[in-house]
Amino acid sequence: MTMIAEVIVDVANSAVDKVFEYIIPENLGVFEGARVLVPFGPRKILGYVLSIKNSPSTHHALKEVLAIKEGGSILPEMLELCAFMVEEYNIKWVDALRLCISREVRNETAKEKHILMCKLTGAEGLEEYITSLPSKSQKQKDVINSLKLASQKKVELEKNFGTSAVSTLVKKGFVEVFEETERRKPLALKTNQQKKVALNPDQAFAVENITKFLRQTYVLFGVTGSGKTEVYLNSIEKALERGKTAILLVPEIGLTPQVFALLESRFGQKVAVLHSGLSVGERFDEWKRIENGEARVVVGARSAIFAPLKNVGLILIDEQHENSYNSETNPRYRTEDIALFRAKYNNCPLVLGSATPSIETFEKTVSGEYMLLRMPNRVHEAPLPETTIVDMRNEIARGNDSIFSMPLLSAISEAIKSNKQTILFINRRGYTSFLRCMECGYIPKCTDCDAPLVYHKEGDVLKCHFCGKKYRTLTACPNCKSVHIRQGAIGTQKVVDEIKKLFPSVPVFRMDNDTTSGKNGHQKVLEAFKAESPAILVGTQMLAKGHDFDNVEVVGVLDADQTLYQTDYKSAERTFQLITQVSGRAGRKSGGGKVFLQTFNPKHFVYRFVANKNYEAFFDQEISVRETTNFPPYAVIVRLLISHEKEEVAYQKTKNIFEALKPLKEEFGENIVFLNAMASPFTRLKNKYRFQVLIRFTKQIKDDIMKKIYQTVNIHQDGKCQIFVEINPSSLA
Ligand code: ADP
Ligand code: ZN
Ligand code: ZN
Repeated sequence: MTMIAEVIVDVANSAVDKVFEYIIPENLGVFEGARVLVPFGPRKILGYVLSIKNSPSTHHALKEVLAIKEGGSILPEMLELCAFMVEEYNIKWVDALRLCISREVRNETAKEKHILMCKLTGAEGLEEYITSLPSKSQKQKDVINSLKLASQKKVELEKNFGTSAVSTLVKKGFVEVFEETERRKPLALKTNQQKKVALNPDQAFAVENITKFLRQTYVLFGVTGSGKTEVYLNSIEKALERGKTAILLVPEIGLTPQVFALLESRFGQKVAVLHSGLSVGERFDEWKRIENGEARVVVGARSAIFAPLKNVGLILIDEQHENSYNSETNPRYRTEDIALFRAKYNNCPLVLGSATPSIETFEKTVSGEYMLLRMPNRVHEAPLPETTIVDMRNEIARGNDSIFSMPLLSAISEAIKSNKQTILFINRRGYTSFLRCMECGYIPKCTDCDAPLVYHKEGDVLKCHFCGKKYRTLTACPNCKSVHIRQGAIGTQKVVDEIKKLFPSVPVFRMDNDTTSGKNGHQKVLEAFKAESPAILVGTQMLAKGHDFDNVEVVGVLDADQTLYQTDYKSAERTFQLITQVSGRAGRKSGGGKVFLQTFNPKHFVYRFVANKNYEAFFDQEISVRETTNFPPYAVIVRLLISHEKEEVAYQKTKNIFEALKPLKEEFGENIVFLNAMASPFTRLKNKYRFQVLIRFTKQIKDDIMKKIYQTVNIHQDGKCQIFVEINPSSLA
């Protein structure tokens, strides 16, 4: 009987994202998930076998699969995962499949690294030969002595003892040269927490629960410094003991070298690292080690969730709330969805760790869907840092209009005197920026949406990122008539320059996208900073993520309000998370940490909860706001982002889609809270004009309405105009 393979061809062109059928020649050994070579038009191209069946769906003559590619096949689990992603996110099969195979393996741009090794052959007469050697041949003796201990790299031997000594011994038959593959090992960074410690009761309780697998998903809610990492390590150990494998995700590439070293100190060579910052060779080797079962623990940034690990027994996501777990470019996906899929497939626990869980995730512990594990205390009983809210309007009133408030400056001076370190944090998500009156703190807002307006240099206008409404820019404050109006954002370089002027003898480091590019860029900055005391580190969001500093006493949040006025429903949540996380860098070892929040809006409820370190109280307040205003998790927001080089094309497409979606309003009635089309806040990005359709609807209709939205999108998708669909996007920019 002829067997038919259903194949997705590896071409990144939307027109061909469908299943093609090929006849499987007998004795080719094609299996589901195999990578195969198939004829495609005049070419031979790579494809992935989705499934095998015994009758074709057409009467047309089918071509045959040409060959099967070694390695890089897609696991059955990952095939199902791709199907899930195609359905859930409306992405292309080929894009989903490509996530499940390393670029290097797919493109064959790397291969194993072979090195020449030397060892003793064990041939008879070696001892006699050595004693017969004249004293000028000492080098040969040295070669033999060193090989008696272990086999060695040929180049090393030659470097130490000379090429002729080695080649003579090879000729005489006493030494043999052989080939070995060498692992190109990613950077591991020594951490100061390598010893195994006895767990405290909270940690032990968490590990026990996770190991018993009482619930599918756990939220490990532990304050900064509560020892979550130790819970991860012990849970991984338990999974390995049961013969399983484990995946640990960290939010940022810069954190992997530390965690990698830590895992390696516990689990040795069983650990592999995966992230996009690895060299081609490193990634190739790590991928292979996972595929062939040598590696049983994988640590990495979000893409590591696609590691071809078999028999997964535990998945952990550290700093669960971090935005970096969402892929915001094609293919768009949420790492937590993927992790949950794999955890269910493998029937194993998923652990989401954070000191500031996302509101949507924490809500699931309230509803009982996820199990909450609390770790309310720091391990070393070091108290959490003391937080001071500094009203910047007072600073201006007393004549200080610099970036730094007086209380912050005197704390920095104190820290310097006692050889402690300071971190200055700039709350910047890059681009958006609002205006503010420096006298009274007034911020212009949209009259329709109450959202702060964003200043656009292009056209010198203020814009509402919710409804798109434009306003004239401000020259004087309508509230107090002051002309002292400034754009919200401050730059890292400016802060570095200013602080250097004030403390010229103290080393100042800078950590942002500009200073950390390049291989191990983060590490270089962090290590340089850690080695100096006193010292000052100026940085952006990347400081917030999980770094364990021993000697930081003062943290200054220079412009706490920046994320607060981002114009979306998550701005309070994000502000709380960010400030709590950066604050957590202070006084980790010995306590005595001091945090200064500089704000123009000191009464805002977020700051009260941040200062009291009360996440749960913040959650209660925020969740009730979400409920009354009908935002996630009580409603779903969908954004269709439409972009094209020509403005008219993008505009026309948006209009058409909007018209096609309008009937949904009648169909779903009150379940649709909002439906509108507008120019995207970043009207032009990477040379493309961007428009968007926003839809907000109740949770109940999600499955129904998403099908219809995707149908509409697919009808309008024609390869010329890009249309992306995002569910609960983390940013509406
Ligand atoms: P978190 O990830 O919750 O912020 P960490 O896992 O970084 O906290 O732990 C903070 C510090 O406490 C680390 O230096 C860690 O080695 C140490 N630690 C964790 N658990 C214990 C324990 N049970 N006993 C002693 N030290 C511990
Ligand atoms: Zn508006
Ligand atoms: Zn004013």
